[in-house]
Amino acid sequence: QHDHHHRPSFEQGRRSRHYSGRVPLGLKRRGLRVVVTGGAGFVGSHLVDRLLARGDSVIVVDNLFTGRKANVLHHAGNPAFELIRHDVVEPILLEVDQIYHLACPASPVHYKHNPVKTIKTNVVGTLNMLGLAKRVGARFLLTSTSEVYGDPLQHPQAEAYWGNVNPIGVRSCYDEGKRTAETLAMDYHRGAGLEVRIARIFNTYGPRMCIDDGRVVSNFVAQALRKEPLTVYGDGKQTRSFQYVSDLVEGLMKLMEGEHVGPFNLGNPGEFTMLELAKVVQDTIDPNARIEFRPNTADDPHKRKPDITRAKDLLGWEPKVSLHKGLPLMVQDFRDRIFSNGDHTTA
Ligand code: NAD
Ligand code: UDP
Ligand code: UDP
Repeated sequence: QHDHHHRPSFEQGRRSRHYSGRVPLGLKRRGLRVVVTGGAGFVGSHLVDRLLARGDSVIVVDNLFTGRKANVLHHAGNPAFELIRHDVVEPILLEVDQIYHLACPASPVHYKHNPVKTIKTNVVGTLNMLGLAKRVGARFLLTSTSEVYGDPLQHPQAEAYWGNVNPIGVRSCYDEGKRTAETLAMDYHRGAGLEVRIARIFNTYGPRMCIDDGRVVSNFVAQALRKEPLTVYGDGKQTRSFQYVSDLVEGLMKLMEGEHVGPFNLGNPGEFTMLELAKVVQDTIDPNARIEFRPNTADDPHKRKPDITRAKDLLGWEPKVSLHKGLPLMVQDFRDRIFSNGDHTTA
């Protein structure tokens, strides 16, 4: 098994690169050195848990903008784990086998906070991580988003759909940023022979989500726990598909280890209106929670639901956790954080 005290040398790393991804499933292999940018965030920290558990060495690169040390604190003292406070907009030198590139604020509240910074993170940050991957020959996985489909004119959205995106709207720093990141990844793949993987992630929820990030699941769960009304924007008939975080992490790892570049939609095809989601939250937390209607935001996509045929066929992946099963799994974490120390913030 992997020896946590042994730090693989550069030479071993070079060799393992050639084996990475080509070891038949089920065979033991030595741990890889993996970078997870954004690894102190919601999705990243769950991914880090899984990578360390399977014996990899993990370097988290995170500027802690929306991430929290608390998300990875349970790995402090593990020699196979390292947290580097670093902004991916600046270059960095590391020797690794795989790069999971997640660094980017993900919720509208956060990515609109400083839109220029968001697009720099997506473009310059992704360029730097691709440059790093090229230099050391690492495999690179980009976490793109369903937002590349914009306000989709096709439903459900398959990967072949090019999207309906507003280039000058308030969401553009994020969705056009991610579209450019995908372009960069493909150009490094075609031009420099880099091994890249592209995931288009649909709305994901679970423990360690930022409490006050304004997203619908975190809002409703926090509101129900605080005995506040659930704020439904617009008429509440817009739809989303909600994926539990463990399903996403499984999909990201299958994509990284597999042979296919993608892009792959990773999401749960179960489609819910915001009013139906409010009902699930009422059933799970507080049947008496009231609903309050609020005006909707500009550019809000009316419908979103992934077509995951490609991931099913080529990666053998599909989500296992339904909304009814997954939602209760995040309630205790939210309860602890909201009530234990009065910490209502993301810090
Ligand atoms: P998150 O905000 O919890 O995590 C993002 C992490 O990136 C944070 O730890 C943050 O501190 C870090 N970060 C941001 N800018 C950085 C920078 N310039 N340099 C270094 N670190 C930086 O969000 P998440 O939900 O875990 O999202 C992770 C990734 O998945 C993001 O790329 C996001 O776009 C993508 N994604 C998430 C969802 C979702 O529903 N959660 C949906 C689609 C795509
Ligand atoms: N880069 C990095 N770490 C590395 C290698 C490159 O941060 O180990 C950055 C580098 O500073 C550059 C970007 O990645 O800004 C793209 O690098 P690449 O070598 O592809 O392009 P070039 O440096 O020729 O523009
Ligand atoms: N939404 C809502 N109440 C809230 C927060 C969001 O009804 O308190 C709606 C929002 O208008 C959107 C949907 O929920 O239609 C999903 O919003 P979120 O910000 O979670 O994700 P995204 O729009 O990025 O899919």
